[in-house]
Amino acid sequence: MQNNPDTTLITPSAPVATATHGGRAKCLQRLVRMDLPVPRTVGLSFGTVANIANGGLPDVSKIVDQFPMNALLCVRPSSQDPDWGGPGAVLNIGMNDARFESYRMSMGEQAASALYSRFIQTYAINVERLDPDMFDHIEGEGRAALQETIAAYEEEAEEKFPQSRRIQLAAVLRSMARAWNGTSARLLRQAKGAPVNAGLGLVVQQMVFGLGTGHCGSGVLQLVDSDTGAPQVTGRYLSQSQGRDALAGDTASLYLTRDPRGPSLEEKLPEAFETIKTYAGLMRQRLRAEMQVEFAIEDGVVHILDGVRVSRSSRAAVRIAVTLAQDGVISREEALMRVQPRLLTELLHRQIDPSVRRDVIGKGIAASPGAATGRLVFDSGEAQASAARGEACILVRRETSSEDVRGMHAANAVLTERGGITSHAAVIGRGIGLPCVVGASSLIFNQRDRTITAKDGRVFHAGDEMTVDGSTGQILAGAAALQEAALDEYFQTLMEWATECADIKVRANADTPQDALTARNFNAEGIGLCRTEHMFFDSGRLTVMREMIFADTSDGRRAVLERLLPMQRDDFTQLFRIMQGKPVCIRLFDPPLHEFLPMDASGQRELAEALGLPRSDVTRRIEAMREYNPMLGLRGVRLGITVPEIYDMQARAIFEAIVDASEDGEEVIAEIMIPLVSARREVEIVKAAIDAVAHAVRQERGVNFSYRLGVMVETPRAALRAGEIAPQCAFLSFGTNDLTQMTYGLSRDDAGRFMSDYVQQGVFDEDPFHTLDHEGVGELLTLGAQRGRAAQPNITLSVCGEHGGNPESIGFCRAAGFDYVSCSPFRVPVARLAAAQLAI
Ligand code: PEP
Ligand code: MG
Repeated sequence: MQNNPDTTLITPSAPVATATHGGRAKCLQRLVRMDLPVPRTVGLSFGTVANIANGGLPDVSKIVDQFPMNALLCVRPSSQDPDWGGPGAVLNIGMNDARFESYRMSMGEQAASALYSRFIQTYAINVERLDPDMFDHIEGEGRAALQETIAAYEEEAEEKFPQSRRIQLAAVLRSMARAWNGTSARLLRQAKGAPVNAGLGLVVQQMVFGLGTGHCGSGVLQLVDSDTGAPQVTGRYLSQSQGRDALAGDTASLYLTRDPRGPSLEEKLPEAFETIKTYAGLMRQRLRAEMQVEFAIEDGVVHILDGVRVSRSSRAAVRIAVTLAQDGVISREEALMRVQPRLLTELLHRQIDPSVRRDVIGKGIAASPGAATGRLVFDSGEAQASAARGEACILVRRETSSEDVRGMHAANAVLTERGGITSHAAVIGRGIGLPCVVGASSLIFNQRDRTITAKDGRVFHAGDEMTVDGSTGQILAGAAALQEAALDEYFQTLMEWATECADIKVRANADTPQDALTARNFNAEGIGLCRTEHMFFDSGRLTVMREMIFADTSDGRRAVLERLLPMQRDDFTQLFRIMQGKPVCIRLFDPPLHEFLPMDASGQRELAEALGLPRSDVTRRIEAMREYNPMLGLRGVRLGITVPEIYDMQARAIFEAIVDASEDGEEVIAEIMIPLVSARREVEIVKAAIDAVAHAVRQERGVNFSYRLGVMVETPRAALRAGEIAPQCAFLSFGTNDLTQMTYGLSRDDAGRFMSDYVQQGVFDEDPFHTLDHEGVGELLTLGAQRGRAAQPNITLSVCGEHGGNPESIGFCRAAGFDYVSCSPFRVPVARLAAAQLAI
């Protein structure tokens, strides 16, 4: 058999591989090679198990011949990746009437009866697939209970309980092999990333008895805490137990380590305890991972049954990987590869305590991660009032617009009925690290009554407490217990290593000094997009902005903008100072102007009062500015050309801020970006105007300074015509939110309503606003990059849409030769780790 790789006694040299026999078989072989006291084990390959599942007869003789005549056996699953699961283990195969008699003598009637009864029940339920209820009436564990168990089995199965170890083993192998092919098992493992044809191996092991005379028991031990990853011996131990019994309950458990509540294995059997600890340390060193050791003690002697990777929280995963590298067990690169980027998201935000029960009342799109609790408020004013009282609140809106930004800053979370992953609430939420769920259409929103109604009929009013989980999209009734974010030294170390390895840079999208500070703390390599319009919504500025919109002449507009200039200059000066010589890319004004005007009657009345105009004038003007399709209307560079005073003011503010910020001796790298370009001439006109402002400021201030001017590629035409646009500018930054919207002709604010149907029916593999569409939008990116580079070889290429924070999309950008990606500040760590993994 040694030469038959399909059914192999696991010895140091047996031909066993994870890809053919599964992870458990391979791990056991490693333990055997380390000379650990592992009971005799036989591994069955994927092929053998598949053959059994398809009706082939298991060659039981080959297996049982490897074990002593009277030994009991257990069978455990061995899939390629332990996370893919597998059928439950079956212990004590070979138990029968004769064995019972002999165990009765050695371990006592009670223990022997319990052992046999449990085996019959497991066999009946898992192997013969009999009804589990048939044993419900049996109480106790003694001999009488055993006899009732046998009787129940024989009645239901209509045959005697099989006494032959071979017959039992063949049936167990067959049932486990078939269970792997069951629909739910298949769906479950595929959800965890298993391929459709993932194989199952099985391991047959000689049972070690954690039961009997002398000191017997079983348990698990690991050297680190699963929640924090900190070094700490933890685990469970149960005297007179088998398998994973020790994990099942609290009763009769001997503590593993010294414990004030009762006696421990460490005190009672110090030598065995030390031996197990030493083995765990050896496994860490040789298997290059933190392992949980599964052991049994038989008459005081330690046996190692198995080793599995320690289960771990995201925080522990980071600490374990970093510590293994710091101890020289693995390389830094390997440590980086061992942490999934998306796990970092959990570390950066508060989470709902995983141990609490969730009273979920509805679900939407998880648009900005983290969880928060607070009282419901239904408009921005209420949110600000709540914040002023020091009360946590959740802002509920049908959808948000620029007017809600101040409310979002005041709220602890945002919940909207409409919207998708790149809708306003989602983008702002991610930008400021605010938990956000959008498109929660399973709830009924009533803004007028200020209520939310759940599907089960429960109604929640303004002031009621609720929890929003932006990581899962769940909405919960009441205030759930939360866990704090965990940015410890191990996280920082991992991030430093990531930056050393990565070959595509990561910048942050940051609109405010607060965002910029977050970006700097996460070591972003600059600001890749500052959406300046967000600066106009502060209460003092909004009125000025509205005055500007209502001004009739260019001079009138310039006069009003004069008042905004110092505020903008101050904004930019702060950003330059915070970023300490790292590039800051400022996008000129982008949204349609009417976004700044009030839509409701009371807002219009207030505006009429503020401007000293008749209300009818205000209403008429607002009506006249209304557009059928504002996202394709008068916005971006189109405003720059038709209402040039705004860009002039912004350019001046930027240049004066460069001068002010560099007065401290700090280097400033300023970049100016023109949004929504579709034609070369647009760039020429705006560029000439900006250069003229720069010239004027240089003259006035008597100092020289430099800046880089670039174009946002957000329309398909800009990508196609990149060859003639590129020579005008220093960089092209692809705004993949609008580019996706325009390539698909799919509104980023409305797609959320039907996106799940589209994904479910396989029209789209994934939401293209979330993961870059490589085929369509990606082709425009590639074309744009190639044509831009051909015309201007030194041009800097980047992506600043939300895709910039998506690991898969970062891979695409890297392959297409982009210099950097820019994403929301809180996604910077995820992007940095993803970038490092791509380069390794
Ligand atoms: C984009 O369109 O990708 C972009 C970054 O700009 P915004 O999201 O502000 O439209
Ligand atoms: Mg855009």
